[in-house]
Amino acid sequence: MKPLIALPTPVYCLSCILETSLPWESVVGLEIHAQINSASKLFSSSQVKFAAPPNSTVSFFDASLPGTLPTINRRCVEAAVMTGLALNCTINKKSLFDRKHYFYADLPAGYQITQQRLPIAVDGILTYRYQLGTSWNQMVTKCVRIKQVQLEQDSGKSLHDDIMHQTLIDLNRAGIGLMEIVMEPDMTCGEEAAAAVRELQLILQALETSHANMSEGQLRVDANISVHHPGEPFGVRTEVKNINSARFLAKAIDYEIKRQTQILDDGGTILNETRAFDYKLGITIPMRDKEGKQDYRFMPEPNLPPLVLYDAKSLPSNMNADQVINIDLIRERLPELPSVIRERLVEQYGILLEHSHTLVNEDGLQEYFETVVKLSKVDPKKIIGWVIKDLLGYLRQQNLPIKQSVVSPSSLAELIILLEKKVISSSAAKQVFQELCQGEEKTPEQIIKEKNLGLIIDRKQIEDICQKIVASHKEEVTAIQHGNLKVMNKLIGLVQKTTKGRADPVLVKSILQEKVLP
Ligand code: ADP
Ligand code: MG
Repeated sequence: MKPLIALPTPVYCLSCILETSLPWESVVGLEIHAQINSASKLFSSSQVKFAAPPNSTVSFFDASLPGTLPTINRRCVEAAVMTGLALNCTINKKSLFDRKHYFYADLPAGYQITQQRLPIAVDGILTYRYQLGTSWNQMVTKCVRIKQVQLEQDSGKSLHDDIMHQTLIDLNRAGIGLMEIVMEPDMTCGEEAAAAVRELQLILQALETSHANMSEGQLRVDANISVHHPGEPFGVRTEVKNINSARFLAKAIDYEIKRQTQILDDGGTILNETRAFDYKLGITIPMRDKEGKQDYRFMPEPNLPPLVLYDAKSLPSNMNADQVINIDLIRERLPELPSVIRERLVEQYGILLEHSHTLVNEDGLQEYFETVVKLSKVDPKKIIGWVIKDLLGYLRQQNLPIKQSVVSPSSLAELIILLEKKVISSSAAKQVFQELCQGEEKTPEQIIKEKNLGLIIDRKQIEDICQKIVASHKEEVTAIQHGNLKVMNKLIGLVQKTTKGRADPVLVKSILQEKVLP
């Protein structure tokens, strides 16, 4: 039995409310194709290789030569089972393959083998969280139902050569295993869809069932969008294709919601059509209209028997383990999923859930953080700010991935240790960090020495500086003596300015107090 998971009541994100006039509700459903991470194709033994020379990984079967037959790739089936389990689906112990016919140059057979009647996994749920508006610590948790996960073949690629006025066909991609993941229309805006896709991407990557890189086409998202009045049936939907990043997905959906509400407000009607997103203009444009429903002439695939899986209970005693796929065994071997990793980070390091979210969602950041914790042995709560605010802030500003950070985890660990040991003040530590970001191959210790950033703890030296500040700021001193204690911060600031933030702040405060309020 699958546990029943209650869907939370809709929470509308700020952007939806602001962007669309209120009497409309928007509905978004996604169909996602994830290329299976496998050495060979779904029904043939040809290699799966990104950026291989055109038509270099094509078997006779992939080119649809008459007489060739499909042989199912076990790895692809296991990947679909893993993915289905991770998405809380019911795995069908018997699923079927069908032919979906359409005519296109990059589909030599004239049909795609897919799972239309009985897919491998059904009825799942994906939980995802995202930030509400711009406020850091307001996270919203939402769920989207997964209608099904089905196995199918990828098509080839048509390459249009504008100079020679010809179209060339590359069949390297033809027959690569895909998992089509169909979501129910449970989302309401671009931000939600982008967050759901990001979570799915992280799950697929944790499972290693797909590289799920959108820009490399391993994860392709089609968004279905419609609007309706509250309490009324869903409206006519459009489908937006050609979206190659999560950011553009959010933009395309929000644009489409706005476009549809505007048309309906003006008394027009929405056409059931396929549209493309023009990322340069930030708009969607019609590709082809669906002209009612296209007839795919689905029929059972005669060359493949039903796909039969087993669980611990149904495992036949006369077959050995490598002849069958055991769902329970796959379930036992599932790796730690992103949601579990986040909870572990909160528990293990005492950090906030929002921070664990950033650590897991930014590629490589969790590993970076955990390395700094391990190397420095400093309280992780003192490290998290450096990693999320200083390091990630800097990298984002420079548009650099974590893997290309010039500040290594060991440098940051060293810096944090020096701060912890009070060798430097926190403002000097920030200066050292800035220097580290410049990428010169120096250790924090060398930078501190060269720039003379060490903490001044010599009482006499600090006293002299304080004396000069007090003597030259008579007005401020009088104000403090008359009870305006806030002005003290100004004097502290002036001392730190003179020392470039190097004076021991505790010492500065006590000396100034002695001098001003004896
Ligand atoms: P089709 O048979 O045309 O592919 P499906 O029922 O499989 O239609 O739905 C395809 C996708 O469209 C799913 O992701 C689903 O969530 C979404 N969808 C269905 N109806 C609507 C709607 N009215 N508005 C937005 N999305 C929808
Ligand atoms: Mg469909």
